[in-house]
Amino acid sequence: MSAVSEKFTVGAARCESYGPDEVRDALSLAISRAGGLPEADCGEVLVKANMLSPAAPDKAVTTHPEVLRALAGEIASAGKTVHIADNPGYIYTNKEHLLKSTGIKALSGDGVSVGLLSDKGARVTRSESFRALSEARIASRYLDAPYVINAAKLKTHVETEMSGCIKNIFGTADIATRKRCHQSSSQRRLANAITDLFVIRPPEFNVMDAITSMEGDGPTHGKPRATGWLLAGRNALAVDWVAALIMCYSDPLSIPLLRAASARGIGPSSRADIALEGAVWSDLPSYGFKKSGGALRLLPVFLRGAAHGLVSLSPKLEREKCVRCSICRQVCPVDAIGGCSSEYPSIKSETCVKCLCCHEMCPTGAMTVSKNFLASLAGRIWPE
Ligand code: SF4
Ligand code: SF4
Repeated sequence: MSAVSEKFTVGAARCESYGPDEVRDALSLAISRAGGLPEADCGEVLVKANMLSPAAPDKAVTTHPEVLRALAGEIASAGKTVHIADNPGYIYTNKEHLLKSTGIKALSGDGVSVGLLSDKGARVTRSESFRALSEARIASRYLDAPYVINAAKLKTHVETEMSGCIKNIFGTADIATRKRCHQSSSQRRLANAITDLFVIRPPEFNVMDAITSMEGDGPTHGKPRATGWLLAGRNALAVDWVAALIMCYSDPLSIPLLRAASARGIGPSSRADIALEGAVWSDLPSYGFKKSGGALRLLPVFLRGAAHGLVSLSPKLEREKCVRCSICRQVCPVDAIGGCSSEYPSIKSETCVKCLCCHEMCPTGAMTVSKNFLASLAGRIWPE
């Protein structure tokens, strides 16, 4: 094998809009630049989309349906049927509403079906390679799929900094497992827990919808930002690495999740390990991209571990936006939100582990993120 072919190849293609023809042509180009889809010895391909919440496609919360449509076309041209699915955020149990709002329901028909990953239940999985979890309950549909394509959306994330291909696999776990991942204030533990979930069953291929990405306080309450790329590749970490450069990270391994994945040996450990096809590195950054408010990101990498307990982001209620729906109480993994369902939520700071799940799932944006003094200071010393 030549030195070049040992690299992790990532195919990139510019795509400025979600016009169906433009997306189809760009995705086809990105996939062929990545070496093409691996051969599939099966009749059906599972596409694991990002269907976090019932948000309209232009909100940039979910994988855009035109990207999924183009991907389904690529798979169909290889003579396979397609099932597109995900587990949404904890509280979105209305499947029809989710599929309709995200525009994904309209894709069903002609060899394409859509649904929830949980449709066939979940089962317990254990691995000696786990570093943070003792076990995980994963959707049986995902575990049993002979061929999976991971169709991620590029977004910021207040807790993990970035939501891309590796983070997208978090959605294969059931609610109890996802809550367990969040039951600690350690960013390193969360990164290792997500990596544990990823290594259970890595997808055969990865596609990143970075045509319009999310900047700011993602993965739910950030703002759409036109970034103009489709990425594809067999290695999820390599695709995430390239995507992090779109988000203007000069060192993708400064993102704890990518660092944890790289340390586990599941992808590149340096840029030299990646063969980028269809772009040059300097083309990638979307200058001015607003990263998440994750306070640790504001610190130099060598200080992050020591500072985790001192520099933090906390949930903060903006009462005027709160509709007292009680969702934040339901999603909190450690029962740190008190008050009865008709009252405004009250956060028990002594119990809160600052996972920010309440912020992520609050439907009105009433649960905001506040930086403590040291986090604000870090922001002034090491500005964006
Ligand atoms: S903070 Fe958000 S999730 Fe919690 S009760 Fe208010 S509106 Fe609902
Ligand atoms: S109150 Fe919010 S940030 Fe704190 S532990 Fe609960 S969900 Fe996480």
